[in-house]
Amino acid sequence: MIKKGFALLIVFGFFVACNEDGDKEKVSPKIVSFDTDQNSSLMFQDNEAVAVMTSDSRAYNIAQIIRVKTVDTKNIEVSNFAPFDIENATILATIEGKGQVQLFKIKKIRAHATQSMKYPFVDGTDLFLSSDNKEIDLSQYKTTGVDPGKISFDFTGDSEIILKLKKLQALKWTISYYDYDPNNDPNNNWEPIKAKDIRRFSGLMLNMGIVFVSDKFKQAFLKEQIIGNDGTTALTLAEKEKVYNDILTHSRFYCGKCTNVSGLGGGTTLGYADYILNGYISTDEGDITVHEIGHCVGFNHDSNMTYPKTINNVSTGISPVMTRINKEFFSGGLFIVTLQNYYKPADFQ
Ligand SMILES: [Zn+2]
Repeated sequence: MIKKGFALLIVFGFFVACNEDGDKEKVSPKIVSFDTDQNSSLMFQDNEAVAVMTSDSRAYNIAQIIRVKTVDTKNIEVSNFAPFDIENATILATIEGKGQVQLFKIKKIRAHATQSMKYPFVDGTDLFLSSDNKEIDLSQYKTTGVDPGKISFDFTGDSEIILKLKKLQALKWTISYYDYDPNNDPNNNWEPIKAKDIRRFSGLMLNMGIVFVSDKFKQAFLKEQIIGNDGTTALTLAEKEKVYNDILTHSRFYCGKCTNVSGLGGGTTLGYADYILNGYISTDEGDITVHEIGHCVGFNHDSNMTYPKTINNVSTGISPVMTRINKEFFSGGLFIVTLQNYYKPADFQ
């Protein structure tokens, strides 16, 4: 009896498995690629107008580095704001009243590629899979499309690079690029921003972001003695937790190119000099970049949230913490953007 029951279970199990595979094949998400000049164009190239590169339409959230946005009820625009190619991403859509579906898969999207496309349900596909592989019928939207206010997007995947990018969900940074010196005025510390600056900057923000969200950085920062804007009072643990949270949830950075000084920061303004944009990818320093973030979250030069202070003969503050953790990331190959995956190595020459 035992043997017979076992055999029946095996047969039954096999049958169910076959059925499931068949269903999945029938509703498997559409697969697209944005990997050639024929199926996509590139943002932030040398011939692109600065007004376009710095426009609001080019703002992106660092947590949504593959940005999907609605064009109208039937069309979307898919853009990669990372300076490297991304493969095997699944685009998820949450539609009001329908839950979350796997909208389509991207086999490959080029660095800084952008492309508009019709929704797959407008283009012939009726059945989609939910995140947990249940069938969802979207044929009701075939002719009407979807109200842009009733749909939102996300991306997922299990490659190493996508898993790193997903860690950035803890950041609320909206990033856009800004020309602080359109007339090339020699009497300020800014210079006109160029496409190459934006391309490099896009990588710098990813690498800085991955350090901030790491538990290593968080723990080291919370242990560090941080002095406030009066130059003497040490922040309490609760105050340091708030500062850490302020960094992660900083809502906006308008990123520009400065000159004469290494960096400029405050509020939503964030600028770095050419040698910073050029050097971050091949050095383990992080003191300048984080100094400006200290300004952005409200600290002045009397606080060691900008320049370090020597306390008991030890260089103390957010800059030494960042430099220490940066070294670990650099030597451990933990950064997101590297000279190996950055799409235009000549940008760093
Ligand atoms: Zn400063």
